[in-house]
Amino acid sequence: MADTNADPVVVIGLGRFGTSLALELVRRGTEVLAIDTRPKVTQALAGHITHIATADATDMEALRQLGVPDFYRAVVAIGSDIEASILTTSLLVELEIDDIWAKAVSNQHGRILSRIGAHHVVFPEHDMGERVAHLVSGRMLDYMQVDENFALAKTGPPKEYVGTPLGRSNLRRKHGITIVAVKSPGEEFTYATAETELSYGDVILVSGRTADVERFAELP
Ligand code: ADP
Repeated sequence: MADTNADPVVVIGLGRFGTSLALELVRRGTEVLAIDTRPKVTQALAGHITHIATADATDMEALRQLGVPDFYRAVVAIGSDIEASILTTSLLVELEIDDIWAKAVSNQHGRILSRIGAHHVVFPEHDMGERVAHLVSGRMLDYMQVDENFALAKTGPPKEYVGTPLGRSNLRRKHGITIVAVKSPGEEFTYATAETELSYGDVILVSGRTADVERFAELP
């Protein structure tokens, strides 16, 4: 199948992560084939997801019967049963699925998934824990680690930068960060420019190296 984002996706394992993922894909107009061993789960989701099957994804014959080999993209969202996660991923590799995503619950699990051929390994619990730690322990309203050492944070403007056009505030030189966008109360986010003046009550999007973003978001 061609590589486009509109391609159907197989989602295997309908726990909390797999279910949210499948429902969001459907909401975005993607055709989904969802598979889980538990009939209770598949019955509850029937009608909400395009195609749904009760099957054991560690069974090659079951995967073939469901037409999984025709899919370009698959997500293995089995977490707690590591053996099933690894077996399923290896079958998808054997079926030469072009774009395999797999959820890992630990670094070791993630390493194995990569080694056996998963193209992308995600760590939802770890990533969410990291994100929530930033929200709980500081002033950030939202936080995203974009890369190993690069982050994007949603926060309020520090006092000393209220009322000065961003072009004159030397933020990049002094703090290593860039204010990407600003939202005034009741309005939408707009791109920040050199002329933008921050006000109390604004929400800003800050990007930069992780430590710089963390430091900037702690300024009073
Ligand atoms: P979460 O933490 O996101 O809730 P879980 O790992 O608890 O994820 O849930 C994984 C889901 O995968 C469960 O619904 C389980 O029934 C399903 N599952 C486990 N093994 C298989 C398998 N071999 N084939 C299909 N689905 C499976």
